[in-house]
Amino acid sequence: MQMSVKHLPSPTNAAGERVVDGYCTQCKQTKSAKAFSCEWNRSKTRRKLRAWCRVCRAVYDREKRNDPVVRERIRQINREYYKTPQRRAQLARARKRYRKRCPEKLAARTAVQMAVRRGDLIYTGICVHCYKKRKTGFHHDDYSRPLDVVELCKACHKIADATVMLSTLPEGDER
Ligand SMILES: [Zn+2]
Ligand SMILES: [Zn+2]
Repeated sequence: MQMSVKHLPSPTNAAGERVVDGYCTQCKQTKSAKAFSCEWNRSKTRRKLRAWCRVCRAVYDREKRNDPVVRERIRQINREYYKTPQRRAQLARARKRYRKRCPEKLAARTAVQMAVRRGDLIYTGICVHCYKKRKTGFHHDDYSRPLDVVELCKACHKIADATVMLSTLPEGDER
């Protein structure tokens, strides 16, 4: 069965022209459009850049996640959300798409898993960035060096990935 990957339309400005870069209202910097995630405008006629760049959003999210009340609420929402069959199917589709699109990332992750199993990499459960004791994962700055990793909590990982994305700006990857 042929599965086609559905691409969302590129972000445009109010005049309908494709945008090349954006201004982040949080860090007050102009950055490439790829440094921003996109959302639909209110009338769903076009996709526009979010007001904050990915890095600023990730930093903000981390602050939020450190609030125990917010953490519990996120956990609760996720528990409910993952139960629905629609959400499960959606996740399965996303995984399939991902396998196709990012084989290098996947290979790097598999290499990490195997290294963990061998005991060459060990989870300490402490984030090297914020020093908090959290559920951690291994972050790659460069997927071509699969075992060159740092242990980060989820929130710091998101910031690190956004930062890498900014510095590399892969062509054609606008998600
Ligand atoms: Zn910013
Ligand atoms: Zn952290």
